Amino acid sequence: MTAQIISGAELAKEKRMQLAKEVEQLKREGIEPGLAVILVGDDPASHSYVKGKQKACAEVGIRSTLLTFPATITEEFLLEKIKELNEDPSVHGILVQLPLPKHINELKVIETISPEKDVDGFHPINVGRMMVGQKAFLPCTPHGILVMVKSIGVDIAGKHVVVVGRSNIVGKPVGQLFLREHATVTYCHSKTKDLASITRQADILIVAVGKARLIGAEHVKQGAIVIDVGVNRLENGKLCGDVNFDEVKEVASYITPVPKGVGPMTITMLLHNTIEAAKERAHREVH
Ligand code: NDP
Repeated sequence: MTAQIISGAELAKEKRMQLAKEVEQLKREGIEPGLAVILVGDDPASHSYVKGKQKACAEVGIRSTLLTFPATITEEFLLEKIKELNEDPSVHGILVQLPLPKHINELKVIETISPEKDVDGFHPINVGRMMVGQKAFLPCTPHGILVMVKSIGVDIAGKHVVVVGRSNIVGKPVGQLFLREHATVTYCHSKTKDLASITRQADILIVAVGKARLIGAEHVKQGAIVIDVGVNRLENGKLCGDVNFDEVKEVASYITPVPKGVGPMTITMLLHNTIEAAKERAHREVH
């Protein structure tokens, strides 16, 4: 049996329709959610991601402002800009597109964003709140993955979730979100020995590595749910995931495609966080 496709694009479309209604309601209350996006340098992939995020904002009625700076700016200059945005009442969410040029300390930049405006969910305060189960901005890709898995109606409690990759933005937090849902979670990374013997134990396999077709049919248990986060550009210019889709779809029960899988859901959760940030601020002003 060939796996069913979990279409991130379709799910994102549905969610964005709901979000657009929420924005309409907020606007009736005099609140216009605003996102400020900072883009440093001229990395083509970053430019294309930012374009996608701005387009999605426009689609649901969020006002997005793009600040672009050359790669030569100093760290001090960037931190100053972020502090200005922290003070700007028309800005509810601040996003600094990563990666940044080598001479700028990413963690310092993330820590300068006010946790109340940290719609990427990367600030250590939000990471900590998520870890201890407090209300927090959840990081967009992990949150999108959780929504995708929930959309197929699977009971996550007790399932063995294997995460391949342990980055701060995807691997580590996605494991935490599934732990919160009572899954048994195993992390794999570049030092893991005999990767296939571990990934084959997964009921839900989440792959966030950045290596084209790293995961083949031999890595996957019959009937597993496979979430492919990787985005890799092949020599022919096409995009492909970390999972060998054609092979694995013959073994898995559900699989996400690349493109049109996790990517559109990541952006949708960014929109969600920006709207939540606007609601929270309005709430704080009333109380
Ligand atoms: P990082 O490069 O930060 O992390 C990659 C992880 O993969 C590391 O933990 C690394 O291990 C691990 N790894 C590397 N090689 C292997 C291997 N052979 N076997 C097992 N693990 C390995 O990447 P990100 O988490 O930022 O991104 C991962 C992928 O997801 C990329 O393709 C990226 O483009 C994509 N992505 C997609 C998004 C979307 O919305 N669709 C959003 C974010 C990312 P170690 O820690 O030991 O080095």
